[in-house]
Amino acid sequence: MRKIFGWKLVLLLTVVAVLTSVLVFWQQPRPLQATMVADSESGTKVLVLNYHKIDYTFISLAVRPEDFENQMKYLRDNGYHTITPDELYDALAGNGQLPENPVMITFDDGYEDNYNNAYPILKKYGFKATIFVVTGFLDRHKKGYLSWDQAREMNKNGINIESHTVNHRSMTDLTDDELRAELVDSKKKAETELGHAVNYIAYPTGTYNLHIAQMVKEAGYKAAFTIKYGNVDKASNIFALERVPIFHTEDTNKDFVERIRYQPIFESFGWMKN
Ligand SMILES: [Zn+2]
Repeated sequence: MRKIFGWKLVLLLTVVAVLTSVLVFWQQPRPLQATMVADSESGTKVLVLNYHKIDYTFISLAVRPEDFENQMKYLRDNGYHTITPDELYDALAGNGQLPENPVMITFDDGYEDNYNNAYPILKKYGFKATIFVVTGFLDRHKKGYLSWDQAREMNKNGINIESHTVNHRSMTDLTDDELRAELVDSKKKAETELGHAVNYIAYPTGTYNLHIAQMVKEAGYKAAFTIKYGNVDKASNIFALERVPIFHTEDTNKDFVERIRYQPIFESFGWMKN
């Protein structure tokens, strides 16, 4: 009897475990409540999304165009408002108000698919976005990267073009002279091509340290973006702003929603910000 009971118990537990997994697996993400959490200490939390390629390349850095469109639709349907780096900077400096549920959409590297695939979707939704370009790649008309003409056209239509250095070398590997050249030359080049100030940079491969941040400041940038996972708020380091990377995964759109939704939980436990 004992033996049979034991066997039944194991079966029952197994069934419960399987049912639980199935339920968890199929549970649809609930509608987003509010990513922007009003917090008396650090104020509005700003979501900064980080994309790379928008195409069908089979790598995690390439989000498919239809998934990207779903994500933009999600942002619109859930009351998000896109902002520029200037709007973010001004709000952090206490000189401006952000819209409700602010989101900054960013792309790194300056791939041509940003123009061919992302730009039409951004236009359709009336969204602002920011592309951090590797100026040396655009300059050399490197295959797969934007041309300056494409960058200029987008720049006239709500897309900010900012710096991602000249050569995309990891900054922690560079001498100070090399580092300075990457920072200053990319800024100058983009400013010459675009005809206006370029004040923002994203660290290639995300690597930076306090010394590099200081050099970014000395090169004349107002703010810099990392790939440190988190939301931006008044407690953020202006030269090490957090972003939420968006990848192609087994279930890209579900993961997108979860990355946005769970963000405040990561932060509220202090796991991500330091
Ligand atoms: Zn990059």
